Amino acid sequence: MAECEHVHEGPAGLTGRDLNHALSQADDRCARAGERMTQPRRRALALLLEAGRPMKAYDLIDIFGEDGRAAKPPTVYRALDFLSRQGLAHRIESLNAYVACEMGERRHAAAFLICDCCGATEEIEPFAPERVQAAAADAGYLIDRVTIEAHGRCPACL
Ligand SMILES: [Zn+2]
Ligand SMILES: [Zn+2]
Ligand SMILES: [Zn+2]
Repeated sequence: MAECEHVHEGPAGLTGRDLNHALSQADDRCARAGERMTQPRRRALALLLEAGRPMKAYDLIDIFGEDGRAAKPPTVYRALDFLSRQGLAHRIESLNAYVACEMGERRHAAAFLICDCCGATEEIEPFAPERVQAAAADAGYLIDRVTIEAHGRCPACL
C-alpha cells in the first residue's frame, strides 16, 4: 500500500446489534442453502464484518481465537473459502484479501473501488456483468464468478 502523509480514519465496521443482525442473517442464508455455519466460519465472517475493510488471511489467523490465540491457518483458509463460495464474502485478488459482502443475498458479480492509499474499499454494482458473461459464452467459456477491482483514491485521501 502506498505511503501517505495524512491521518486515516478507522474503517467503519459493524459492532453490537448490527454485527449480530448481520451474523444471524448469514446463519439463515446458510440454512436455506443447506450449509452449516460452523463456529470457525461464523468467526471468520464476524472478523470481516467487524473490520469493515479487506483483511488478509494471516491477519485473521492472528486474532482468530476468541481468547486472543492464533488459529491454525487451514481452519481460517477453509472458512474464508466457504464464505466466498456462499457469497458472504469476496476475495479481492489484487490485495490478496477478503472482505464481507455488502450486497446481500442475490447472486452477483463483485465489483470494488479500492483506495491504494488507505485501503478502504467499497462494493459497487458491477458494470455490465451480463456482457462479460455473453463475451465468455461467445468464447466458449463457462464463467462461475466475475470480480472487477478498480484501484485509485477514496474521497478522504484525495
Ligand atoms: Zn457482494
Ligand atoms: Zn490516504
Ligand atoms: Zn483512502
